[in-house]
Amino acid sequence: MGECGVRQIAVIGSGPAGYYTAEAAQKQWGNDVQVDIFDRLPVPYGLIRFGVAPDHQSIKGVSRRYEATALSDNVRFVGNVMIGRDVSVPELEGLYDAVVLATGAPRDRKAGLPGEDLGNVFGSAAFVGWYNGHPDFAQLDPDLGGASAVVIGNGNVALDVVRILAKTRAEFAGSDIVAHALDTLEGAGVKRITILGRRGPHQIAMTPKELGELGHLARAMPRVDPADLPPEAEDAALDPGQRKSVGHLRAFAARGEGAAGTDAAVEVDFDFFAAPRAILGDGKVEAIEIERTRLEDGQAIGTGETYTIPAGLVVLCIGYQTSPIPDVPFDDRAGRFTNEDGRIRSGLYCVGWARRGPSGTIGTNRPDGFAVIEKIAADIGAGAGKDGRPGFDRLAAERGLKVVTFADWRKIDEAEMQRARDGAPREKFVDVDHMIAAAGKA
Ligand code: NAP
Repeated sequence: MGECGVRQIAVIGSGPAGYYTAEAAQKQWGNDVQVDIFDRLPVPYGLIRFGVAPDHQSIKGVSRRYEATALSDNVRFVGNVMIGRDVSVPELEGLYDAVVLATGAPRDRKAGLPGEDLGNVFGSAAFVGWYNGHPDFAQLDPDLGGASAVVIGNGNVALDVVRILAKTRAEFAGSDIVAHALDTLEGAGVKRITILGRRGPHQIAMTPKELGELGHLARAMPRVDPADLPPEAEDAALDPGQRKSVGHLRAFAARGEGAAGTDAAVEVDFDFFAAPRAILGDGKVEAIEIERTRLEDGQAIGTGETYTIPAGLVVLCIGYQTSPIPDVPFDDRAGRFTNEDGRIRSGLYCVGWARRGPSGTIGTNRPDGFAVIEKIAADIGAGAGKDGRPGFDRLAAERGLKVVTFADWRKIDEAEMQRARDGAPREKFVDVDHMIAAAGKA
């Protein structure tokens, strides 16, 4: 039995929700808690490393805060261990007072479109994972040779994908985009990117800073049809952030036709009131069929008018879902674990996107982490004296698991920094075996 009065907490997932939960546990119990943060990969930080765009380094800087948590004595990183495969959730429930699933939402939601499985059609988890060097998607090998790309969705992920497709090599200076993506993007032939929004400019889910960025790229020419914009007076009803975003769209519309131009330009066309209906092609995508919509009570209603545009590449940026884990109830419709305010069952909890779905900013996960710890504190009291860490270590030894520690990760980190191209913060390893070798554990 473990020491009584020291709560043993397992957190599954080392992204923002996981580290904020660990931070909250430290604030709640000080030295009277031990937190083990598991990750199936040998590297920490989840969404920060693999989701946040490689040219948004200031956002990635939040990992320094997580590092401070990771380096404290009562928190440890247990990398390269997949819960549900190497160790089951019920096994962890037997070892820890509380198990918190902070696994995010790493899978693409399907649109259910005919042709969605054609070649060169990707969900944003896969496409973003490719340019961010996620081991699951490093081999994606998208063909960027076609002149026309279509990005579906009007959220911030769509903006990330458009921006990455539109940038010049020089504009990636200082980013940690992986070499395979940088080289492919440099040789790309994309000249026109269409962003499909099934609703209108007032319904976009793009935040002002991210949308404004599109207006300041070297060769991207954002274009909005002025006819799609509601009368300006109606912007007054929007919240301030949304009003600012729509202001950017108005500025793009005001630039007009004359602004499009040089051979080097990449046109970025916002096509609003445009719902994808089918992806067309023979083995590989060639075009996309779209139905014009109109708004009724805020919903997109098809008008029956359809048209087709060419598409050599399609990226669906329509949202994510959590990956199910054996022995954990899963809500298929919502795409996350079945839970009541973070509690799945006594001793098992979820937090962040795994609890509430893929919405909000990175910072939204902090109050989430604190809320789940408050709930756990009320549920477990002084703890049941469970085995916690030593118990897991015994299990890991029995099973011959190759656990990667935070100290091991720092070796990987160091090696990635050393192999960075000029001006880049790092060159990521994109293969788990290479990460493990860099950690000295091969
Ligand atoms: P999102 O904000 O939920 O946007 C999804 C978009 O896809 C919406 O425009 C939605 O339209 C559209 N959509 C959904 N289903 C569709 C379908 N079947 N056909 C056509 N369009 C469809 O999701 P996200 O862009 O994946 O972003 C996830 C979260 O991460 C958001 O909270 C986002 O702000 C955040 N994020 C932030 C940043 C940043 O701050 N820099 C960067 C990336 C992501 P409807 O509105 O009509 O449903």
